[in-house]
Amino acid sequence: MRILVTNDDGIHAPGLAHLEAVAAELGAEVWTVAPETDQSGVAHSMSLNDPLRLREVGERRFAVRGTPTDCVLMAVRHVMPQVPDLLLSGINKGQNLAEDITYSGTVAAAIEGTILGVPSIALSQAYSFAPDKQPPYATAEALAPDLIRKLLTLKLPAETLLNINFPDRAPDAIEGVRVTRQGRRNVDFLAIDKRSDGRGNPYYWLAYQGQRAQPDAGTDLDSVRAGYVSVTPLSIDLTHGRVMDDVAGALGVAPGV
Ligand code: MN
Repeated sequence: MRILVTNDDGIHAPGLAHLEAVAAELGAEVWTVAPETDQSGVAHSMSLNDPLRLREVGERRFAVRGTPTDCVLMAVRHVMPQVPDLLLSGINKGQNLAEDITYSGTVAAAIEGTILGVPSIALSQAYSFAPDKQPPYATAEALAPDLIRKLLTLKLPAETLLNINFPDRAPDAIEGVRVTRQGRRNVDFLAIDKRSDGRGNPYYWLAYQGQRAQPDAGTDLDSVRAGYVSVTPLSIDLTHGRVMDDVAGALGVAPGV
């Protein structure tokens, strides 16, 4: 088995090394192609106006000056001798739940793998954003190999990927595994933080707010908060089937097929 490992936190991120260890434990030939710098929040963007720079940093390890999507394209189309049997993206520093999925470069790398026909899994480790707090990557590393082995027995439909999130707990404190649906936060979680530079001019950061959502049961948010590993199947087909007839009715055209 040949596994492509990538992430959005960059080639030097600790979570990447933990995921390489997971891939090695699966007995795979591991290839790593990851961004030079932290690409968190770039989602499924690709570089069309800048060239990609490829740097070999070790045996079967490469850094790309580009986005996670660029990395997957470079790996599959250029770097690797054959298409990989599996793509693993992560282990992200922080959870990718609910709306996060639409911003996530970690999930986007798995989306790109799926588009290229490679079974793909995104892995993220939740942690509290307290200063100097590091994610408990040991939890994801301990639990991921067994989960992935079981998931590899599954023939996923085309256009489908898996999004796995590990709770902010030690491995022996995990409650179990739940298959979940994508949740939705019922609070505004991004705010604008206004600051002043050295000359008194304003600048701004996007900032996470501390408000906690009250997630619905069965969602990724709810499960990770309750201490369960969350496994969510995602589809890259974003069509909202149930709304098609309503839209057709509004337009006075035949319903969608
Ligand atoms: Mn990230």
